[in-house]
Formats: sequence, C-alpha cells, structure tokens
Amino acid sequence: MNEKEPVKTKSNEDFLEGLQRKETGRVVLMYSGGVDCTAAGLLLREQGLDVFPLFVDYGQSSSEAERVLVENVPVRLGFRPAHIVETDIMKQLTKSKLLGQEALSDDDAWVPGRNTLFMVIAGIYAKQIDGDGIAIGYMLDDNFVFGDNDYFHHKGIEQVLSHSFLQPMQVFLPTRSMTKRELIQKLTNAGFIDLTVSCWNAKVEKNKIISCHECANCLEREKGINELKKE
Ligand SMILES: [Zn+2]
Repeated sequence: MNEKEPVKTKSNEDFLEGLQRKETGRVVLMYSGGVDCTAAGLLLREQGLDVFPLFVDYGQSSSEAERVLVENVPVRLGFRPAHIVETDIMKQLTKSKLLGQEALSDDDAWVPGRNTLFMVIAGIYAKQIDGDGIAIGYMLDDNFVFGDNDYFHHKGIEQVLSHSFLQPMQVFLPTRSMTKRELIQKLTNAGFIDLTVSCWNAKVEKNKIISCHECANCLEREKGINELKKE
C-alpha cells in the first residue's frame, strides 16, 4: 500500500486562530467625502471604534473634488488619515457615465459591481491593519436603487470576507436605519455638512468644490437641506 500524504490542516488551524482573534476596534470605512459615509464614520466614532477611511479613486467624474475632502477632512472628524487607492480597472471594464462624463440619473451613474469589488478591496485593507471589518454608508433610501447596495448584499460580503480571511470579518452598517434627511440633520447639527460633497459631477474651481445642482444626488441633498430649513 502506498503511504498516504499527510492531511493538509493549515486552513483549519488558521480558522480556529481567527475565531480566537481579539477584536481591535479598528474598522475600514469606505469613504468618499459624501454625506452617508461621513455620517457613518461619526456613528462608528460614537461607538468608540477606530476609523480607517479608504478612498478609491477609480476615475469617477467627481474624483478631484472628492480628493480635496478626503485629504483634509478625516482627521478633523476624529478618523485616521484616509488611505487612497487608485485604479482604472472600472474604466477598462465598463462604460458608465460616472467615469469621466456627466451623470444625471441613477441609470447614468450605475457602475456594475462597483460596491461588491470595493468592499472586497476594503476587506483586504482591513486585514492589513488587523481590523474587525469594514463599514459602508448604506442607508434606508439606498434600497431598491442599485443591486449592490442593500442589506442582503452587504451581509453577503461579510460571509465572503470571513471565508476568504478565515476569521470573522464584520460589515458595519451604522446608518442602515436612517434616511438621507436624518443623515443631513446629523451632519448639520454637528457643523460638518460643509465638509461633505454629494454631486456626481463635482468640480474644483479656485480651491472650491462646485456642485452641478442637476444630478440625482444634488437634488436629493438640496431637498433634504431645504426641508430642514422649513422646520
Ligand atoms: Zn450634482
């Protein structure tokens, strides 16, 4: 009889070690300078978590404007400085209007699989910093717009990351029960609303961020701010 190869057990050992891992309180926040992710980060801070923002510059039309915030704002909010990743992979794969052209409607702005891919990228960074998981600024009004931005999608990613890294990896959804209006209210009350940008077509002119006032995101933000003023 041939001698049997020893059974490979590395993944079992890694998994048991992963289950015993002590939580560090570190969380990677998917951050773009928007209302949702900024509010999500503030809520994580209120829970005593250590927030590591990750910004992906994938050639989106508003990237220059977003970078102005990403490079300056996180530390003012009590987050770590943002880690910036650049990639043109979405431009190589898809033709969304969000990638350099003007996007006005949800249809224009759809980049297939973007959240799915970026959540995995955030998970890799979380592993690198020995984090407990990742966070995304997903909120109530996001449901039923894009397939990769609902509760079940995000909890599914939790499973993917936990399997991949053989340890519990959480997907934190601190704003999941909040509306856009409540998020705007939170940031306005805290004096931080001007440290955010929502516009898909935002540009930088003379060091100032200029929004288009036409895209679905601008309209949603302005509606929220106007409603608050009326109260
Ligand atoms: Zn806009």
